[in-house]
Amino acid sequence: MPSRRDFLKAGLTAGAGALPLLHEADGYSMDGGLHGEQEAASTASDAAGTLTTLPARLPTAMETAQQWQLGVRRVGQTNMTEHDPAVMNVEAWADYWSRAKADVVFISVTGILAYYPSKVPFHRHGKFLHGRDFFGECVAAAKRRGLRVVARMSPDLNWDDALAAHPEWAMRHPDGSAQRSSEEPLLFKTCMFSSYMDDYVPAIMREINSLYDVDCFYTNGWPPLGSLPDCHCSICRKLPASGSPAYWSVFTDRVLDLWRRYDAIAKEKKPDSFFFANSGGNVRGGPNLDRLGKVATWFQADNQGRTYEEPAVWGCSLQGRVCNAVMDGKFAANVTAAYSTGNPGWRNLTKSADEARMWLNETVASGMVPYFHFIGAESGLGEDRRWQKIGADYFQWTARHDAHLRTRRSIANLGVVIGQGTQLLYPGPASDRSRSYMYETTQGIYDILLRGRFAFDFVHEDRLGPERLSRYRALILPNVAMLSDLQCAQLEAYVQAGGSLIASFETSLYDEHLKPRGDFGLAALVGISKAGDAIGTNGNPYYARIESPNSSHPHPILEGFRDTNWIAGAKNRLPLQPIDHPVLTVVPGFVRYPPELAYPPIAHTDEPAVVLRETGASRIAWFPGDVERTYWLTGQSDLLRLVHNAIHWVTRGERVVQVDGDGLVEMFCWETGPGYAVHLLNYTNPNAFHGWLQSVTPLGAQRVSMRLPSGVRIRTVELLRAESSLPFDVKEQTLRFTIPTVEDYEVAAITVA
Ligand SMILES: [Zn+2]
Repeated sequence: MPSRRDFLKAGLTAGAGALPLLHEADGYSMDGGLHGEQEAASTASDAAGTLTTLPARLPTAMETAQQWQLGVRRVGQTNMTEHDPAVMNVEAWADYWSRAKADVVFISVTGILAYYPSKVPFHRHGKFLHGRDFFGECVAAAKRRGLRVVARMSPDLNWDDALAAHPEWAMRHPDGSAQRSSEEPLLFKTCMFSSYMDDYVPAIMREINSLYDVDCFYTNGWPPLGSLPDCHCSICRKLPASGSPAYWSVFTDRVLDLWRRYDAIAKEKKPDSFFFANSGGNVRGGPNLDRLGKVATWFQADNQGRTYEEPAVWGCSLQGRVCNAVMDGKFAANVTAAYSTGNPGWRNLTKSADEARMWLNETVASGMVPYFHFIGAESGLGEDRRWQKIGADYFQWTARHDAHLRTRRSIANLGVVIGQGTQLLYPGPASDRSRSYMYETTQGIYDILLRGRFAFDFVHEDRLGPERLSRYRALILPNVAMLSDLQCAQLEAYVQAGGSLIASFETSLYDEHLKPRGDFGLAALVGISKAGDAIGTNGNPYYARIESPNSSHPHPILEGFRDTNWIAGAKNRLPLQPIDHPVLTVVPGFVRYPPELAYPPIAHTDEPAVVLRETGASRIAWFPGDVERTYWLTGQSDLLRLVHNAIHWVTRGERVVQVDGDGLVEMFCWETGPGYAVHLLNYTNPNAFHGWLQSVTPLGAQRVSMRLPSGVRIRTVELLRAESSLPFDVKEQTLRFTIPTVEDYEVAAITVA
């Protein structure tokens, strides 16, 4: 039996080939990680780890704002209806946003209906405009109060007179008929590949620039989010099929070409003006987010509130992590709907205050700028005025703490690869086709990471270079099915430099064109080989057999599993060829009913249910099953524990910040100008997974510890929500303090000397 030292030596000289296998007899429990230091790793309150020293602080010069939008901390919008010129009190509108300390307001120019006496053909004047310059009055009222102005356009819909004159502007069905708005059939959908975008939109922009002093331009309703357009007009018929990787590329090219042209038009009047468009769509996005992030100077996340389809409370902070992955400190805002989101949704009624506040909390905690939004101004400023106090109170609170709420960079040491291509284009495995497959996968890993209180970032698959990955102790690839040869090579380089990986199921089984590979793109790196196609379930998923259940030194990923030989497998798996000394093996699935037949036809196989590798500082855990999605579908606690154990094992228990206490909490840790900020979002609530928050369930003490870079001294620790200072303790560069209670949200703001 070779010693662990032999394995490490072999691994260090193994080059790009397979890493040596580690198994129980090889003494991996000597690693100094969490093994033996804790009872169980799967709950927040008992998780223990090793604190990693934070990276050296960035130089102060980083704070200098190059672009005016980097100084924006609050964004306001009363989304104007056609009727508003007849009823809105313009002075009261401007007073509200000024009093709320908004820095910038969105004012509707539109494109569907003109809010000023536009002369652009087919820019139809609103019914209640009567020749009045409503847009101009709003711009003037905002400017008198020192508010900047976003000129808001909507290029997605127009009317039948435009269609009659320009039939080429419409999106078409396969039968050639024009596609219509699903709610207002008098409006047709415009095609983004048509001259509508080349001619009509620029004409409006130039008209606005010639008449008004606006600070930038924005398009609502375009580009589409979370899915790709499906148009059969004469132009689109010549493009690759919608939904294909080739179409996604052409679509992104067109979006970015228009984006750059609109940006140049914005700058024709003044060089610090710019263009930005509706973005968001969380991990699916729309255009390729790596490419978008290189062009955009304002990421406008249109993620307004929870829906039946996306019911988890963390939908906004998930979006924030997507923005952080591609914006690298450039401006990002998320719009919180004060109105009643959902389906049906009451567009003109305020939602519960606790729900609206949590969405704003998530915006701020995830490093985005809060943007509050209500629709229409009947009776002067709205028939329902409840939203006004919610927004103003929240904005005024942030204004008192701007210095601590502005982020410099995340200090997380875990990266989760988004796999945007997989999210948008992969249809699910052959064993379980589903449009929601990757959505559920993402929710599963998100839930798992929150319950383990891990500090993590999202990473875009087109940004896997060493300059970015070197900050992460480990990367997680939750069924990132599509990876190019280059991306696989980048992951190999990351592992060879000492980085660790967790990956699952069909990760790297397809290239970036969704072309299946004969074997995993990461097969050589991990030392695995595909043994067949994806296998689903006939009622009873596969199980994972603990190969040495009575061992006195169980592998650390088995921590906490006692009195059982079996633990949960997953709903689907991609079978692997046997490996030496597997820690878990597959017990193939069988029927759940009738119970007479609910037993394994084969009791013992040599098919691995996990593959564990180690070389030098790097560790790899590969799950052949779709463990994250299966956890999301079922809540199976074995899967939660198994993935937590795997994260602890591959990171050797290293954490950048430790937060111990009860409750379901999402955590963000930032380096800030004054020092650091630890944000805790309290999701412990009966409505965390459905509907809206109707109340807050406060949490008890949360104990925070982090290891400071050498030379960094702490001046104060303050709680920004409680607006109180907090005692703290520093020993051997480890900062410790206890937050006595968390209502819906708390920010521990740390000021360094
Ligand atoms: Zn088209």
